[in-house]
Amino acid sequence: MRYISTRGQAPALNFEDVLLAGLASDGGLYVPENLPRFTVEEIASWSGLPYHELAFRVMRPFVAGSIADADFKRILEETYGVFAHKAVAPLTQLGANEWVLELFQGPTLAFKDFALQLLGRLLDHVLTRRNERVVIMGATSGDTGSAAIEGCKACDNVDIFIMHPHNRVSEVQRRQMTTILGDNIHNIAIEGNFDDCQEMVKASFADQGFLKGTRLVAVNSINWARIMAQIVYYFHAALQLGAPHRSVAFSVPTGNFGDIFAGYLARNMGLPVNQLIVATNRNDILHRFMSGNRYDKDTLHPSLSPSMDIMVSSNFERLLFDLHGRNGAAVSALMDSFKATGKLTVEDERWTEARRLFDSLAVDDEGTCATIAEVHGETGYLLDPHTAIGVKAARECRRSLALPMVILGTAHPVKFPEAVEKAGIGAAPQLPAHLADLFQRAERCTVLPNDLKAVQAFVGQHGNRGKPL
Ligand SMILES: *Cc1c(COP(=O)(O)O)cnc(C)c1O
Repeated sequence: MRYISTRGQAPALNFEDVLLAGLASDGGLYVPENLPRFTVEEIASWSGLPYHELAFRVMRPFVAGSIADADFKRILEETYGVFAHKAVAPLTQLGANEWVLELFQGPTLAFKDFALQLLGRLLDHVLTRRNERVVIMGATSGDTGSAAIEGCKACDNVDIFIMHPHNRVSEVQRRQMTTILGDNIHNIAIEGNFDDCQEMVKASFADQGFLKGTRLVAVNSINWARIMAQIVYYFHAALQLGAPHRSVAFSVPTGNFGDIFAGYLARNMGLPVNQLIVATNRNDILHRFMSGNRYDKDTLHPSLSPSMDIMVSSNFERLLFDLHGRNGAAVSALMDSFKATGKLTVEDERWTEARRLFDSLAVDDEGTCATIAEVHGETGYLLDPHTAIGVKAARECRRSLALPMVILGTAHPVKFPEAVEKAGIGAAPQLPAHLADLFQRAERCTVLPNDLKAVQAFVGQHGNRGKPL
């Protein structure tokens, strides 16, 4: 499989190079040159497969030529073997034809484990074969950091440095990162805010001299392998609910448009998906596009669903590429103009095309808490604030009551206790068994000033399994 850039200028790459690449050299994002398409008979034959076997069948065309079948099978079995629930991604029924797909049974209790557990293992496999080492640098406001660290902790060829704003992440979030101990794991608490952390990651990618020949790899949501891994659970859920002989709808809590873009790809690969609902919080740039063809940058509004607090959606460009007939020059012009003006609209017929599949809703904190309370009252089930936004959007935007509606459950409620408390239902979420002793575990973390040189010096001193590069 070959991958091309959404801006049409960067060289095409194979899977292995895309895995290591991050952004394309022309500033675009990599997408498959040709999407695999499965027949109804093929999809039907996958019904009842264990998760890792389904994953093999769905993802195999994407890694073809880079990862041998036997290796890929073994990696997938290991990856999804670490999930706490035997079904890996179980479905829980909330109401009539309404389901939550629980994507929070992985080690860090959020859906990012599906992609990052796989990404870490794929990286290690490829790097071992090449006899190379890499450094991962990432910034987190709380949630992604632990999933990235958990995904890379067993990687022999990766040192991972995750920065979080000192004293500005919740204790559960901090402990989920700092209690994972290993020579190759480095938590840095920056005396600054999340944007300061992110700026330092960007600056380090732009000038990698401090790495003395080692290179940086991006594991943020634009990495193609993350999107790829997320396609699988759409197939998994839909197959259990009657696909491919029946259509299914999905409601997806989204920020960077990564998770929902995977659903869009699943549909283009042959899965009958009749509706995709974009569910945002007050940071609603995607809702403004879907409802009114206005993709305009706004300021950041901190919310009770912080993992969706974004100003622009980094994966949206991948949809724009398809809406423009995969014309890289057109996307490039559009993104240049967006960069200059902070505003973007597309031609009417392209927007109408998007609206054939996508609906959207923005839900504020009040609506989020009300939905947590409503669902808890109806069923006793406790939603996390991100998933609650998905439920609210599903209920408002649903096109057909006759078809199953699946809401992606993106996090366990214990990760976001503030929203659950504000919902006023008197129920406190409990840590699951594998994290029950989280507050007793030893932590390791280094506090550094908000200073690029200090951070880069630290990476240089510790980037080779704790030793200097
Ligand atoms: C990252 C995240 C999201 C948003 O996912 P995108 O791929 O950015 O759309 C939603 N919910 C939770 C809990 C997350 O961690």
